[in-house]
Amino acid sequence: MTHATESRIPSDAENEVVQLCSELIQIESVNTGDLATIGDGEALAAKYIQAKLDEVGYETTYLESIPGRGNVICRLKGADPSRGALLIHGHVDVVPANAAEWTVDPFSGAIQDGYVWGRGAVDMKDMVAMTLAVALDFKRRGVVPPRDLIFAFMSDEEAGGYYGAIWLVENHPELFAGATEAISEVGGFSISLDETRRAYLIAAAEKGVAWATLKASGTAGHGSMTNSDNAVTRIAAAVTALGSYEFPIVRTATVDAFLAAMTRLTGVEFPDDDLEGSVSKLGGIARIVNSTLRNTANPTMLNAGYKMNVIPSTAQACVDCRVLPGTEDSFRKLVSEIVGPDVQIEWVWNPPLEVPFEGALVEAMKAALLSEDADGTAIPYMLSGGTDNKIFATLGIQGYGFSPLRLPSDLDFSALFHGVDERVPVDALTFGTRVLDTFLRTC
Ligand SMILES: [Zn+2]
Repeated sequence: MTHATESRIPSDAENEVVQLCSELIQIESVNTGDLATIGDGEALAAKYIQAKLDEVGYETTYLESIPGRGNVICRLKGADPSRGALLIHGHVDVVPANAAEWTVDPFSGAIQDGYVWGRGAVDMKDMVAMTLAVALDFKRRGVVPPRDLIFAFMSDEEAGGYYGAIWLVENHPELFAGATEAISEVGGFSISLDETRRAYLIAAAEKGVAWATLKASGTAGHGSMTNSDNAVTRIAAAVTALGSYEFPIVRTATVDAFLAAMTRLTGVEFPDDDLEGSVSKLGGIARIVNSTLRNTANPTMLNAGYKMNVIPSTAQACVDCRVLPGTEDSFRKLVSEIVGPDVQIEWVWNPPLEVPFEGALVEAMKAALLSEDADGTAIPYMLSGGTDNKIFATLGIQGYGFSPLRLPSDLDFSALFHGVDERVPVDALTFGTRVLDTFLRTC
């Protein structure tokens, strides 16, 4: 085992990763989700990565879906071409930051107090920097991994991936030919179990995103007249019914495995009659876990009418639904029943994801973590949100959230995603780089 010790000589990748992370943060690759206000930051970030990869001899492919939305992909040949390739993907875009709320300039990439600070430090320029550091090191040293590795850095994850992963999968699937598995963001970080032991949460499932547009129609008319066929009344009733509905708790394989592992490691029980209450005792991670116990339907937008004294003939509402694996059909049916036969539903559906937490790749993740943290245990969990792994699933690629970080016990990590004073510990970056290095040599 290669335990990190004081006397250990850091690798080139470890030496480089902090600087790479800081420099990536300094590139303002902000994705507002609005084409009118998105600049060329993503292209600059992708080109920065491409230049680093080119410099050590990779053959890179740089593609813009539309001007300014850059994506860069390269491949490192493995020892056994008959094995499926492993895709390591990351997004270069970040959400906006309001500088007035921050302790430091959110695009400074400041390295201070043991942290790299700035927008993207945990979502996900940390993992992009770790991946890049290991990729550069492998090429310089002539490391031949056991199987092909595909490195992909993409735009637009924060607004659905339409100009990044979705565009690439639809227009250039050949870049991912032969890929069977993937790793990416929002997993592999530690939570503290007590003063000495940690659990590393690997994402093995993601809730689906189901956007429902509810449409009601009725009879248009003058606001002064009696009208029993009012579209606004009808949509309001449907929104109230759906928004206040408490969906039942559903036990999925991944969440059950997470809870069983937590019971084994901590002794905390999760009884059926107080599941949410007992999950709430888990600290910062409770926020995510509690969101993966039920389906949800949150009304977010209403649209009806144009004048106070005109009853409109149509009305509509948008409801952001998040759906557990295995419940898609029953959820869709239940929502139809709740809103009733007079309201039409149009769905935009991005299905949930659940991959097995077993097999050679998972064993390699566990072993790589254990080689750097003998007091760590890797356990599966489910994301309430989504990542580009869902998009790559359409190519048959099984994606995991594995961006290894060993975190201090007092850091509220999940609050840093899209949060104020987003920052990543320098130690966590070097730790993650060592884990990734070991993992990619043994994957
Ligand atoms: Zn992200």
